[in-house]
Amino acid sequence: MIKLVVATGNKDKMREIREIFADLPLSIVSMKEIGVVSDPEETGVTFEENSLIKARAESSALAAAGEEGFLVLADDSGLEIDALGKAPGVLSARFMGHDTSYDVKNAALLEKLKDVSEEKRTARFVCAISCILPDGTELVKRGTMEGKIGREIAGDNGFGYDPIFIPDGYTVSSASISPEEKNRISHRGKALRAMYAELSQRLA
Ligand code: IMP
Repeated sequence: MIKLVVATGNKDKMREIREIFADLPLSIVSMKEIGVVSDPEETGVTFEENSLIKARAESSALAAAGEEGFLVLADDSGLEIDALGKAPGVLSARFMGHDTSYDVKNAALLEKLKDVSEEKRTARFVCAISCILPDGTELVKRGTMEGKIGREIAGDNGFGYDPIFIPDGYTVSSASISPEEKNRISHRGKALRAMYAELSQRLA
């Protein structure tokens, strides 16, 4: 079976990808599992560019390690807050420093938005997924989850900025809904399902 190497070490992302891609004729492994780990600088100004940078870096590292005939998948995601000019955007993981806790980052964002009215608190999570096929073809898909920034840090599920993000159609944060429900509506779920649709045609 053809190998799909995912440029991540994140177990939750791997589980979600394995679930969504379950019936594709692919053997899905993370870069950690295959033992070829890449960590390029994310110099792009869009999520699409950064996901491609990660996929290309892993592809080159695999080729250098003598691995052939594989597909490579990488993602990039983050939070865009309209009232902050779409910040933190592609800098979401780096905002206030990689090692700063999300309690601190979320509190700082709430403080910045304290005088912003309900209708101007719009925001979205964005995810871009890139896939490089064995012949070098590059595919890129985007998914978004629209919503707004709440007034407090709330909820124990999720990670990152979930405790301050209220998805459209909900009254609670994305850290307050079950992981299954979040995967159904999430930016990453949508981008992965779009990639699944294209791969299932190409691999048929
Ligand atoms: P990366 O795509 O793994 O580099 O993640 C980028 C950053 O965006 C994460 O570290 C989080 O800060 C944020 N982020 C992306 N997706 C989510 C989400 O679903 N919930 C909360 N934060 C997220």
